[in-house]
Amino acid sequence: MIEVLNITEKNPLEHIGMVAGICWNSPVDNPEKNRKRAVSCINSGHGRVMEYAGAELVISGYSARCIRELYTHIIGTTRLQESTRYVNMEDFKYYVPATVESEKQKATYKECMSSIAESYSSLIESGVSKEDAANLLPLGMDTKIVLKINLRALIHFMEMRLCTRAYKEIRALSAELKKVLSEYSEEWKFIADNYFLPKCEAAGFCIEEKCCGRKPKKSDIVIISKEEYEALKSGK
Ligand SMILES: Cc1cc2nc3c(=O)[nH]c(=O)nc-3n(C[C@H](O)[C@H](O)[C@H](O)COP(=O)(O)OP(=O)(O)OC[C@H]3O[C@@H](n4cnc5c(N)ncnc54)[C@H](O)[C@@H]3O)c2cc1C
Repeated sequence: MIEVLNITEKNPLEHIGMVAGICWNSPVDNPEKNRKRAVSCINSGHGRVMEYAGAELVISGYSARCIRELYTHIIGTTRLQESTRYVNMEDFKYYVPATVESEKQKATYKECMSSIAESYSSLIESGVSKEDAANLLPLGMDTKIVLKINLRALIHFMEMRLCTRAYKEIRALSAELKKVLSEYSEEWKFIADNYFLPKCEAAGFCIEEKCCGRKPKKSDIVIISKEEYEALKSGK
């Protein structure tokens, strides 16, 4: 589950356009003009202005392994995570991938998780501290984080993690993040629709070695001018 903390501004584009306008000595009291200026900056790849806007989110119900992947995105993010030193994790929940589907597979998976939970509880009962018993806990265990991320980092995160090459759990997290932000305000919806895209959609081609085929590979693309294209089309 992802909650957008209400401290997150509803009008990130107005904010971006305002700071950009200040730098150009333009009037910044018109929200519509600010929004237009923001979109122009983003489309022109003027990345720094995007760092003025961002979101604060509570992300829960995803595995520690998935969150570890999120943590590889080190630029433009600040995070705090549920403590395994102070929180009792006896009743931890965990991720079950869809490929663990037969009754036998599900039973094996569940048995292992239950065994970890039992060992954890028994160590705590025998006097081992939570922070030490926590070393038993699995990567598949659900965790909770508070993530602060600026818009520049968010767009990059979506490009990487909505890609079909990303692992399915973090892809699900990215898709949920896109959904909750697009429901947060009109401006976030515009951003989500236009900029929260896998990198192939953003670039128009794929740079992954193992391409899923959604877009052509970069090596299979030839860039020609509009004039050349028109000439080819008309057979001249
Ligand atoms: C399909 C997939 C598989 C992956 N597999 C693995 C794996 O097996 N093991 C693993 O450890 N990780 C793996 N990763 C994570 C990946 O290697 C990156 O760590 C992750 O994408 C975050 O890094 P980033 O550069 O994209 O983003 P960020 O760290 O958020 O950086 C954003 C941008 O800032 C710039 N930047 C970042 N750091 C610097 C710097 N130090 N100096 C200058 N500029 C910088 C770059 O332009 C970068 O694109 C995988 C990612 C994907 C999508």
